[in-house]
Amino acid sequence: MEHSRQEERSQMVAEQLEQRGIRSARLLNAFRAVPRHLFVPADYQAEAYLDEALPLSLGQTISQPFIVGLMTSLLNLKGAERVLEVGTGSGYQAAILSRLCAQVHTIELEPRLAELASQVFQTLGYKNITVHVGDGTLGWLPEAPYEAILVTAAGAQVPQPLLEQLTLGGRLVIPLGGENGQVLEVWQRVGGQIRRNRITQVRFVPLRGKYGWSFTDWSSPDNEE
Ligand code: SAH
Repeated sequence: MEHSRQEERSQMVAEQLEQRGIRSARLLNAFRAVPRHLFVPADYQAEAYLDEALPLSLGQTISQPFIVGLMTSLLNLKGAERVLEVGTGSGYQAAILSRLCAQVHTIELEPRLAELASQVFQTLGYKNITVHVGDGTLGWLPEAPYEAILVTAAGAQVPQPLLEQLTLGGRLVIPLGGENGQVLEVWQRVGGQIRRNRITQVRFVPLRGKYGWSFTDWSSPDNEE
């Protein structure tokens, strides 16, 4: 197993996560353990531990480590959860999640990205991640409901199927907005109601699919996160 670049990871955790207020020891340990450089394209491996988002193929991006940390911390995972991620991309976020919960289901629209991520999971021996190819705005009904759902692309709205596939008490984290600005939000099912919290401004590529943006709505799918 690949354990190199441990020092860069420790530094990334200290400077980019701990110093910005991410405190959970479980979460920080997950970031120390997952070799981020194996999830970025070969051309960018040198930059893997920098404080920035990096390009993937097909105009997609792997988020900045701090944003991955922030979104993960908002899910408040204890270990027994089944988590759905929409937007597998490189697989890095799913790998972090897999160390903090029981089972990750991750859905990616682009078959090529799904395949690459699956290969990395296999190489690393991560067994509790299942990759699905398809439109994640429909959720993934066969395994629903989920205690936590994380969307890693910016939606115009919360896709209704995702709310329906959340357990009572479950949390949904999603960036909402378009190319001019997005807000990271947490939606939680409490009793019969939905509690909505706006966290911070972010920048993601567009969520596509049935309940996402259509290309005619948002014409710059290659903008940086
Ligand atoms: N979580 C990823 C980053 C994802 S970038 C990581 O850790 O690297 C956003 C991803 O969402 C892109 O790969 C894009 O192809 C995918 N995507 C966009 N709309 C989607 C949809 N409706 N269903 C599934 N994946 C989608």
